[in-house]
Amino acid sequence: MTVLCPQPADTHDAMCWSMVERLGLTERDAQLLLAPYREVLVSLPVRLSDGTVRSFRGYRVQHNGARGPFKGGLRFHPGLELSEARSLARLMTWKAALIDVPFGGAKGGVDCPADLPPADLQAIARAYVARVERLIGPTRDIPAPDLGTNSVVMGWMMDEYAKFHGPTPAIITGKPVELGGLPARESATGRGLAHLVTRAAADVSLPLDGARVAIQGFGNVGSWAGIELHARGARIVAVSDESGAITRSDGIDPAGLLAHLRGAPLSTYGPAEALDPADLVAVDCDILIPAALGGMIGAQDAERARCRIVAEGANAPCTPAADDVFRRNDVTVLPDILANAGGLYASYLEWVQNLRHQAWRGGEVDSLLAETLNRAYDDVAKHADRTGDSLRVAAWEVAIRRVLAAVDARGAGA
Ligand code: GLU
Repeated sequence: MTVLCPQPADTHDAMCWSMVERLGLTERDAQLLLAPYREVLVSLPVRLSDGTVRSFRGYRVQHNGARGPFKGGLRFHPGLELSEARSLARLMTWKAALIDVPFGGAKGGVDCPADLPPADLQAIARAYVARVERLIGPTRDIPAPDLGTNSVVMGWMMDEYAKFHGPTPAIITGKPVELGGLPARESATGRGLAHLVTRAAADVSLPLDGARVAIQGFGNVGSWAGIELHARGARIVAVSDESGAITRSDGIDPAGLLAHLRGAPLSTYGPAEALDPADLVAVDCDILIPAALGGMIGAQDAERARCRIVAEGANAPCTPAADDVFRRNDVTVLPDILANAGGLYASYLEWVQNLRHQAWRGGEVDSLLAETLNRAYDDVAKHADRTGDSLRVAAWEVAIRRVLAAVDARGAGA
């Protein structure tokens, strides 16, 4: 079978192909799984604050829009490539279908340095929107924050979009609250992950009270997951970020660590001992949360892991080979499209709030988020129970079937 997919195969392609076989898909459906609807590469010449002009590469990949407008984050990251945006766009299609929000999947961003001065970051963000403004829109494609971007960047982007199309808050999610953003958007991914870990822990009879947690990556997702799990009685025994890693068997207070990180690197956090970041995966713990970059947990890391649950805060942190090892060793892996879907759901609520020009009332967001994640977890766990598959395969199958049903209902591509 020949499928139009213009870039070399990656690990996601491998997963897609195994799903094609498992589900016995037709060529049309395989095409749908692998090939994006649209891929855009833009060059962004920007005058930087040091007076030089530099050109950056930007991308937007819109994977599948059968269930609704494209939706997904924009990452500003050195070395970002089109193929990475493509894999991540596919994951967004499945993620949206799994939590049953009316979106398709997209992803994009800019290949740029991580430590740019704010003025340069703003210039790049505005240049990006100016290049893609005709391809995005509140009923077309709605970006959001991802690695290297945040609510401030979303605010600049919303403002830039308004120059072309007039005020349109629903064009972007993860905005500052002052611009129509959702107060809970920033914490939603990490808090949602903690909620799902609670469900998975109950299913493997692991009491969360006193459970030991290791967190790889202490950015937005890792830190909020740590705060929420700590509040639920778990003990954070190891944390890493790009500067190093620390461990403390009596537990690290995540809020204290966050306060420390405002002025100093992780490794100087007094109450804990330094750890080789490569050894974080091997720390004696019950729950491992990879919340850094994709592909950070390989087969060898998985062999060294001593946890019972892996909860993927990042997108695609475990390679397929690592997944096999975890399965063999009876480790429950909460897959990314389920584990970190709380952020997408909060984005959905923000988008709805902007479209109807009315804010959610206190408490509504938390209960809707919990309800949605519980439903998604139940759908996946039931499917896995029935088929004997891993939670990842079950999650992909539930999601892919929903996307294919939408394609069929449209009568498209027949
Ligand atoms: N970047 C986040 C993700 O990978 C959120 C995307 C969104 O809210 O649209 O799920």
